[in-house]
Amino acid sequence: MSKLIYVDNAGTTAMSKHAKSAMLKFLDKEYGNASSLHSLGQRAKEYLTKAREMVAKAINALPDEIYFTSGGSESDNMAILSTAHRGKAKGKMHIITSSIEHHAVLHTLDRLKEEGFEVTYLPVYKDGLIKIADLKKAITDKTCLVTIMYANNEIGTIQPIEKIGKICRDAGVPFFTDAVQAVGHIPVDVKVNNIDMLSLSGHKFHGPKGVGALYVRRGVMVDPLISGGTQEKNRRAGTENVAGIYSMAVALEDAVKNMEKNAKAEIKLRDYLIENLSKIPHSKLNGNKEHRLPNNFNMCFEGIEGESLLLLLDDYGICASSGSACTSGSLDPSHVLLAIGLPHEVAHGSLRITVSPYNTMAEMQKICKYVPQIVEYLRKISPIWDRLQKGELKHVI
Ligand SMILES: *Cc1c(COP(=O)(O)O)cnc(C)c1O
Repeated sequence: MSKLIYVDNAGTTAMSKHAKSAMLKFLDKEYGNASSLHSLGQRAKEYLTKAREMVAKAINALPDEIYFTSGGSESDNMAILSTAHRGKAKGKMHIITSSIEHHAVLHTLDRLKEEGFEVTYLPVYKDGLIKIADLKKAITDKTCLVTIMYANNEIGTIQPIEKIGKICRDAGVPFFTDAVQAVGHIPVDVKVNNIDMLSLSGHKFHGPKGVGALYVRRGVMVDPLISGGTQEKNRRAGTENVAGIYSMAVALEDAVKNMEKNAKAEIKLRDYLIENLSKIPHSKLNGNKEHRLPNNFNMCFEGIEGESLLLLLDDYGICASSGSACTSGSLDPSHVLLAIGLPHEVAHGSLRITVSPYNTMAEMQKICKYVPQIVEYLRKISPIWDRLQKGELKHVI
């Protein structure tokens, strides 16, 4: 089989050479436990300290504001559950979020609703952005948390984080942002944006899977999700994954150092896709054009099933996605595409292509050759497309 064309980088990324080599020494000689007093253990501790400084610097935080976790999902759970329960203790049981959050946020909020919390889901409009006026209106004296993602994993929209942070700070409400898609891809500054808590994950910026971090601003209190030893200042028990943590820090440092160059390369590839695949009749770009991650392409094609498109692309060695990796395999259309107002039947026909600096223009040309062919083929065998052609159904896009 020919070389894979991997364009599912919002799902996960390939590890960079540098991150891989940084990890190897821990699997070999540097296997110490950072809690041990002997020199091997103390060296592990030094690597953790260094990694904490590197991760903090990448988002303009202080090292003691960084807690290492097992990834984005754990960081999301820890920030939300802990802040909600602290709110509950003060009689505040109202949370504000957006309707297009990752399931790590939405399903955590479902658990809190079972405990009696009230959750307001801010709508996003056609372009996938929340409205600041909606947020202002939603905050009450019972609000204990605002949790709104930095950038969306399906349609790539970047929320007005600075404005959200300012409103929350002024209102005295803790603000958490799931920044898993943003960190390492676009500039993120927790101080300028008044962010109280933020989650990030190694495998979304060419680091390893199973490792991430939670930023918690000095003065904001969080409680542990996992009890045990005193690691991470008593906030996250368990022997530290030094190999993963250090490797993630190396990947993040590189991602930030090369951010401008990488973004430029990605935008070139992404815009080539947008320009060429928009030529397919009855297609539509999802999400805002301007406030968009450099690597994200997401389009709907009327009259087809995204899943079928993906499987046929896979036959050509093209690894893409129809939305979020987490909802693949379920028959429900993406909650994000429904939230931007797409009808069910159109939301089913989506294609997400998320590029990385490892992709080439030649790969995009291949994608732009195969996608129109496959869409045409799928439409030919689609009963819905047939009815659209006969005028029995109306085109929506
Ligand atoms: C991938 C992702 C997560 C989950 O991160 P894991 O490290 O895979 O647990 C959470 N939120 C967003 C927006 C993501 O893209």
